[in-house]
Amino acid sequence: MIRGPASSPVTTIFESTSRRAQARGAINLGQGFPDFPEPAELLEAAASAVRGRSNQYPAMRGLPALREAIAAYYRRTQGLAIADDEIVVTSGGTEALAAAFLALLEPGDEVILVQPLYDSYLPMVELAGATARLVDLQPPGWTLPIDALEAAISPRTRLIVLNTPHNPTGTALDSGTLEAIGALCERHDLLLLCDEVWEATLLDGAPHVSPLHVASLRNRTVKIGSAGKIFALTGWKVGWAVAAPALANAIAARHQFLTFTTAPSLQWAVADGLALSETWHDAHRARFSAARDHLTAGLGAAGYRVLPARGTWFVTVDLAASGLPPDDVVIAERMIDEAGVAAIPVSAFYAERAQKNYLRFCFAKESGVLDTAIERLSDFRGRIA
Ligand code: GLN
Repeated sequence: MIRGPASSPVTTIFESTSRRAQARGAINLGQGFPDFPEPAELLEAAASAVRGRSNQYPAMRGLPALREAIAAYYRRTQGLAIADDEIVVTSGGTEALAAAFLALLEPGDEVILVQPLYDSYLPMVELAGATARLVDLQPPGWTLPIDALEAAISPRTRLIVLNTPHNPTGTALDSGTLEAIGALCERHDLLLLCDEVWEATLLDGAPHVSPLHVASLRNRTVKIGSAGKIFALTGWKVGWAVAAPALANAIAARHQFLTFTTAPSLQWAVADGLALSETWHDAHRARFSAARDHLTAGLGAAGYRVLPARGTWFVTVDLAASGLPPDDVVIAERMIDEAGVAAIPVSAFYAERAQKNYLRFCFAKESGVLDTAIERLSDFRGRIA
């Protein structure tokens, strides 16, 4: 029998929900991908690179032009100074995470993960032979309890993993929290892996805060980025890891035996995209803000309690506060089958399926699609609440 790592399902919740939604013809607000028109500038750039440039192996650490563009993008948008030897381009954020886990961990190490957590973290920690200790965010504000984080540190702890902005809750860490985590990492000599793939999705104009902004964390942090998320081209699988040279070298050493490189045409297009003006990036983001506000207002009017989300493409609904049974897997299945709308049960983001009171909805869909989903969900709630 084919098995995944010990505590992971054989098929991810995103894949299984999408397949179920497809089989039932349901509107898919589950897996995070937009249905907006794809950015024409990037499609053109990729097409012309396929025709006009080399399609052979690019440099293992990424096209120099893309690494330059990533550094310039972070200088312009986040005020970060990043050198060329601090960047490793990968086949998506997921590969960057995998390479980082394999580079930073040794069998027997402990890693602190924060729940709800993205579904690849725990299996990758296990594949690296390490053990996870889990710390829970506290709903409904989903705050990170620093005392619980500190209590989870043992002499074997090597790494803390953070995700900001956070999937599935849409919250983001502030600099005070990152400073406190920096003090912990310094005191206990820990590394930090920070999944920042949603960094361009802060929907209310707030600046993104990275651990790389915190002096004590600058050389202890691996920052993960994703062009798929920045440009809403999730199938492109162009991502990167950014870290001090010694860490970046270790990650590159893993990356070369995972995928080695990623499609050069897509790397050229991403380099062009990162150089697009702030006006372009702001207009791109505005579509997502409008969609978030649309779904939040619509579900709210239909009697659902929607928690505020600052970033990502997701909002979460509190089932009990919406008058629904707090059993997210059952409700998600009934929603697909009876209402024709798919969402992701937030318990899938917990190792022990501990928290069952929330459902995650992807709002990155055309208005008409959201309107139909809201109408169906309004009927659904009327029937079972
Ligand atoms: N990041 C996407 C989400 O949270 C899913 C990616 C995947 O399907 N593996 O929906």
